[in-house]
Amino acid sequence: MGAHDESARRAGHTFGRRPDGGSERTAGGAEHPAGGAEHTVGGAERAAGHGGAPGRGDRGLRTAPVSERDGLRLGDELARLEGTPYGRYKSLAGRWSFDGWRLEFEKVQADPYAPPSRIAVTMDADLAGIPADLWETPARKRATCDFLGRTAARILQVKHSPFRVAAGGQQVLERSTVAIRDGRVRLRIGIELPGRGRRIAGLQAERALCELLPDAVHALRWPELNQDALRRHADAVEDSTALRDMLPELGLVAFVADGSVLPRRSGVSDRPLTDGAVPFTTPETLRFTVRLPHAGSVTGMGVPEGVTLIVGGGFHGKSTLLHALERGVYDHVPGDGRELVVTRADAVKIRAEEGRRVQRTDVSAFIGELPTGADTRDFSTENASGSTSQAASIVEAMEAGAGALLLDEDTTATNLMIRDARMQTLVSPGREPLTPFADLVRPLRDRHGLSTVLVMGGSGDYFDVADHVIMMDAYLAYDASKDAHELARPRDFADFPPPNRRVPDPYSISATDDRGRTRVKRRAHDVLTFGVTDLQLGALEQLVDGDQVVGIGLALARLVDSGDIDGSRPLGEALDLLEAELDAEGTSALGPRHPADYARPRRHEIAAALNRLRTLHVIRHLPGLA
Ligand code: ADP
Ligand code: MG
Repeated sequence: MGAHDESARRAGHTFGRRPDGGSERTAGGAEHPAGGAEHTVGGAERAAGHGGAPGRGDRGLRTAPVSERDGLRLGDELARLEGTPYGRYKSLAGRWSFDGWRLEFEKVQADPYAPPSRIAVTMDADLAGIPADLWETPARKRATCDFLGRTAARILQVKHSPFRVAAGGQQVLERSTVAIRDGRVRLRIGIELPGRGRRIAGLQAERALCELLPDAVHALRWPELNQDALRRHADAVEDSTALRDMLPELGLVAFVADGSVLPRRSGVSDRPLTDGAVPFTTPETLRFTVRLPHAGSVTGMGVPEGVTLIVGGGFHGKSTLLHALERGVYDHVPGDGRELVVTRADAVKIRAEEGRRVQRTDVSAFIGELPTGADTRDFSTENASGSTSQAASIVEAMEAGAGALLLDEDTTATNLMIRDARMQTLVSPGREPLTPFADLVRPLRDRHGLSTVLVMGGSGDYFDVADHVIMMDAYLAYDASKDAHELARPRDFADFPPPNRRVPDPYSISATDDRGRTRVKRRAHDVLTFGVTDLQLGALEQLVDGDQVVGIGLALARLVDSGDIDGSRPLGEALDLLEAELDAEGTSALGPRHPADYARPRRHEIAAALNRLRTLHVIRHLPGLA
């Protein structure tokens, strides 16, 4: 996009001009551009119904009257601001109307070093012209929004551009960047308003806002879009979503299509490995054929419900397969290699996480008598050990509604996973409080319906409990179930009674800081600043995008603001309510005017974050559901 010739610029500049002025638009503009005001009202009602919950910022509850000015004057205004004190940018706040679209300055930064200003561009349905089939179903809408966000980024994020567009990585997530409602397209992005020292660089701002931005609006119109690529994008996402929805019917936890490319370029890149990647090949006995809406008939490996082991020698691709399954809860962009690697949406990666906090979690199935005499049906610690952290994470995942657990020997606590015969002889059962996962994985499945996929190259104990064994050998998958079953030994299983359900205290979850301001910010890729605390989310391996971290913060605030967490509802039910709200109203319900980008997190990561919040207090327990 670097080669923008001047005539195109001028065309872009002219585009959006309407000689008869924008006053008619004003009326249209007053109705909520992307339904922000609607959400806001809903939020206020619900919040009022539960009154008094803490952290209920009125952020976004009141919409101040917004002036609307003729967009044709924006250029003059910016030229006039050239060289004046930076603070005068504030005069831009409000809406500017153009022909068929509006620009709104939602937040104007106070100085050049503050976080970027926030703008929203709303295009009328007629101007955008995106055919309804591209946004009528949730999956296609998500894909189309994603595609438009990436298109906007390509134009706006050129060298030296002040615009900041959160367009996403390899996954297609619901995010704040683009929303479509009844054909209207709304783009929310950041802009570092240009300055020279503490003075306004008005002419630079004019180029950005009156040339580059109209170019982007122009490029987002249907006639200008790469329609084939957009349709492919939407079709791919619709296919993987459909495939994921088919899994329960097929009795599968996951599906890996033949030819998928699982390895990534490096430990710090989510892009596909290009050199020497061995494409996935399905072992005959695990082959499934599915029919997808667009790709048609597709074959691949089904990972059946139940207990599945992934075994094989070191460096043979076990963890790579599991990582792909972890990420299979998301849809991937065409070209990623994992477009048709899908996993049930309720699959949760579990790992040991020494030092994490645990608040009143029922870990009694895993841990009996502790040397401290603590009641493990009501276990709290500020500093969990490897095994207790992992036990707590499993029980919390059940509480949040997990249907499958994913574990890798590389990141689990050995003493919770295995205990061999010699160790059992040395340490008498009375002195070992831990029941190993190997004794619980069957009751988890048989009593609670939870499947497990486990990478285990180091111990044959799990042959006794596995339904299926996948062997990775030089990056090729084989079905080793028969051989493994011949090596299995009879085993006594432990019981796994339904864990207590916890009722969180809404007063212990606050997004406000000491000065009463809402603080939901991403500090690093995986650190969330939430109110007065910093939350380390690095152990949540299914968080794929830093913008989800912000989404988690907003979701936690929303759970309390809306009264979903009200001091009497157990966490699982509160999450059900939040999910239903987001499904109905879209991700923008999380923060219609939040001054930063965010993406929708899964309920499992929201729960996991809450469970790690150092201020969380659980009021009481309700009995577990059988
Ligand atoms: P394991 O868990 O069995 O020890 P890993 O899954 O960590 O092995 O893989 C070891 C290495 O092999 C990694 O560098 C990974 O990127 C690479 N790798 C994995 N699968 C493939 C594949 N299908 N083609 C090429 N390289 C692969
Ligand atoms: Mg490994």
